[in-house]
Amino acid sequence: MYEGLPDKRSSLVGLTDEGDEAWLIRGIARKLYRCPGCHGEVDIGADHVIVHYVRRLGGGDHHHWHRRCSEEILVGELRSLRKVSAAESARHRIEDRARKPAGRRRRR
Ligand SMILES: [Zn+2]
Repeated sequence: MYEGLPDKRSSLVGLTDEGDEAWLIRGIARKLYRCPGCHGEVDIGADHVIVHYVRRLGGGDHHHWHRRCSEEILVGELRSLRKVSAAESARHRIEDRARKPAGRRRRR
């Protein structure tokens, strides 16, 4: 259903079992990262997936995943997954959401 996403125009957002938001955004690696899925390196320049967590109690963090690992490992664990525009998933908007606990956030 979401094959090929995230891309330049669209991101995905879903919920983890803990009730945290997980935003999946397409990125190009500017340095070497380690993928949490396979513990392998995400090469510089690689088209990959940035996963921003917005924690239920507030706060956030992000990780860099291989595209394939995010599809094979992560996406299946998320519920209420939906597509959003890249504008909605802009980094400053996600960081704003993380400033408040979920109950005090604007509804999406
Ligand atoms: Zn990986």
